[in-house]
Amino acid sequence: MEIKTVKDAFDHVVKKQKLTSSKAIDLVNHVGKEIEQAISAIQENGTDGDVASKLNHEILLNLKKKLKEMVPVKQLESCQKEMNTVIGKWVKTTDKFFIEDISKAYRNVDMEPHLLSELIANHLYREALFDIGDKFIGEASCQASIEMKQLFQMMYEIHGALRAGKPEPALSWAMNNHDALLQNGSYLELKLHRIKFVEILKEGNRDEALLYARAYLTPFAPIHKDEFQRLSASIIWAGRLDQLPYTDFLLPTNWEKLAEEFAQQFCNLKGQSSTGPMGMTVAAGGQVLPIILKLMTVLTAKREWHSMKQVPFPLDLHKEFQFHSVFVCPVLREQGSDDNPPMLLPCGHVLSKQSTMKLSKNSSRSFKCPYCPLEALTSECKQLHI
Ligand SMILES: [Zn+2]
Repeated sequence: MEIKTVKDAFDHVVKKQKLTSSKAIDLVNHVGKEIEQAISAIQENGTDGDVASKLNHEILLNLKKKLKEMVPVKQLESCQKEMNTVIGKWVKTTDKFFIEDISKAYRNVDMEPHLLSELIANHLYREALFDIGDKFIGEASCQASIEMKQLFQMMYEIHGALRAGKPEPALSWAMNNHDALLQNGSYLELKLHRIKFVEILKEGNRDEALLYARAYLTPFAPIHKDEFQRLSASIIWAGRLDQLPYTDFLLPTNWEKLAEEFAQQFCNLKGQSSTGPMGMTVAAGGQVLPIILKLMTVLTAKREWHSMKQVPFPLDLHKEFQFHSVFVCPVLREQGSDDNPPMLLPCGHVLSKQSTMKLSKNSSRSFKCPYCPLEALTSECKQLHI
């Protein structure tokens, strides 16, 4: 089903709603008009005397007859009924489109409950949901690491300060981790000094800027010569940065970008991935879930899914979920390892070492490639490094 079908169904509801509402308004107006007419006729007649009372009685009888003919309640009811039918159809369409029964893809996987709880708690801390994380730990009675909480508390404190335009905590962290950052090829420390330096320039204090540059920027001069020169030259524009030619120093997004870079480097140095493992797993699972749900519709028996060792076709994940190349031997259907590495056959096909050994009866004879008619000797196969 395409999203257009959902949109068409919605447009139909809107159309019907407009029509029903204008029908109802017309009807109510009509009833109101009849009543008003009757009231004004009664007011004209007055209420004194038998004649007036007889006339008024007739007016009321007439009104009653008209309203009976119109059956406004029934008309309103039928409008409402039509509307309900269209809305019901719309709900069914959206349910079909948006709400898949994902439990169809459920597999009973043996999992250590305490590990799972720990993973969830760590995920909450990673997302800066410290209170919820603490509450979760209490309720799940799990032992999430307190270090993890403290680690991310520290990260978010520094991150928040940076976003608020305060580089000092990040600077002191970066200076303490100077060597490790350089080893990672990161020049976050210089970027932090640069942003602080630009703040001093903004205030127009040339002497202070000069002292700061000498103390903190000069050490970076040998590696980042161009950057150092641009920064040194900027001192000329102290106090009048609106004329500074290096406009990239003044971008308002610099703080945000730096905060993100800091978080990445922080996680990196602490041996954590910059995106949490749980968030990543759920996102990757969400990406292949529609394909798995489709697979479930073609599987004849549910038990096939439960006994299936692997999905019968490759499930490609987007680049952000690919971290390293993986080789799976097409014969043994096992992932390559240091003991069983991928081997390139002379024909260009690749099998695992164990497969080539099996096919060649422990290198005692040549063997035919399972994927093409060419023969090979194990001595002709080359190990591939991934
Ligand atoms: Zn081959």
